[in-house]
Amino acid sequence: MSEGNNLKEYLTEIGASKVGFADVDGLASEFTDLPNGISIVLKIPKRAMKYVEEEDYESYWSCFHSQIDKLTEISLKGEKYIKNLGYNAFALTMDRNECDMKKLLSILPYKTIATKSGMGWIGRSALFVTPEYGSAVALGGILTDMPLELGVPITDSQCDDCENCQNACPVDAINPQKWNDRLNREDIIDIETCREYIVDQYKNGLGCTKCMCECKLTKKYLGVE
Ligand code: SF4
Ligand code: SF4
Repeated sequence: MSEGNNLKEYLTEIGASKVGFADVDGLASEFTDLPNGISIVLKIPKRAMKYVEEEDYESYWSCFHSQIDKLTEISLKGEKYIKNLGYNAFALTMDRNECDMKKLLSILPYKTIATKSGMGWIGRSALFVTPEYGSAVALGGILTDMPLELGVPITDSQCDDCENCQNACPVDAINPQKWNDRLNREDIIDIETCREYIVDQYKNGLGCTKCMCECKLTKKYLGVE
């Protein structure tokens, strides 16, 4: 088995739901010596989705944050594994992949690595969508110079005629335009309207995950459609 396949197997053994390899050469100016991206997908457990249904956001967020901790652990272990092979690596953990919380943008978005790895696409909701788990996923990543068998990027939406998330959004923040990798995020979602609504909901101990829960592929994962 190749080193790349061994790495994939290792990351899956320690908890990743899916792993993909992507060409991200030149996309993150601070990491020009690390041209390959490893995308790590972690499914959000079904029990967490149940909390949303029950509007128990405290339990949902606690579960979600433990998934983020798990992603951090997997990414750092992956970094160590690669370094032990003699290559360089940098785990893009949440605290390292600086995020502008106002614009919800990071230096190298996890979604970019994920779509370029070919594991899924950006849904109408602007969330990353996988065929297996819909948008009920959390994403992590590692940058490296390790030679890897890179995936074929997905450059267009595979949402087809589905509009479930758009119809479910309580503040009409989702635009009719379907994603392709030539568009900006603002072309498919009004992020400011979404953010304002979420902040408002948060003040009342709630949240908004409608677009994630109503995704037809999330429902398929949950076995409710
Ligand atoms: S999180 Fe809520 S407000 Fe934001 S796009 Fe999704 S459904 Fe709309
Ligand atoms: S609900 Fe439908 S349109 Fe929205 S992200 Fe999921 S598959 Fe795409």
